[in-house]
Amino acid sequence: MVCPVCKEQMIILELHEVEIDYCPACSGIWLDAGELELLLEDQGEREKIVSSFHLDPEHPEKPYRCPICRKKMDKVYVGEKKELLIDKCPDNDGLWFDEGELKDVLNLGDKDNKVVELLNDLFGANLNNQNGGNK
Ligand SMILES: [Zn+2]
Ligand SMILES: [Zn+2]
Repeated sequence: MVCPVCKEQMIILELHEVEIDYCPACSGIWLDAGELELLLEDQGEREKIVSSFHLDPEHPEKPYRCPICRKKMDKVYVGEKKELLIDKCPDNDGLWFDEGELKDVLNLGDKDNKVVELLNDLFGANLNNQNGGNK
C-alpha cells in the first residue's frame, strides 16, 4: 500500500496481533476498518472513542486520498472535546493517522493501553512532541 500523504511504500507492522500499515517516510499509520477497535482493549473506552467520531465536511485542511479506493477522505474529529482530527475513508476502508495521532487517539481511552507502550517502543516516546523539532 502507498502512503496517502507522501506516496511512499508503506511497511506492515504487527501491533498487538493487529497488522497496521506504517509509512517510514512521514510516520503516518493506516488502519483498516475495525482495527482501531481491536487496538482499544477496554470495551467502554472503545465505544466512547468510536462514538465520538464527528465528521467535519467543511474542514479546510487538504483531503488525502484513501490508499485503497482513492476517494478523498473525510476529516473526522475524535474525542468529546474534538481534541483530534483524523482522516477516514468515505467508504469505510479505514482510517489515516498522521504522525503521533494514533497514540493520541489511544491515549483518549485506557491510559494503560499496551498498544501505546508498543508504539513508544517502536517509534520512541517523542511521538507526542510532533512540533518540537530536533534539539
Ligand atoms: Zn508517508
Ligand atoms: Zn477508501
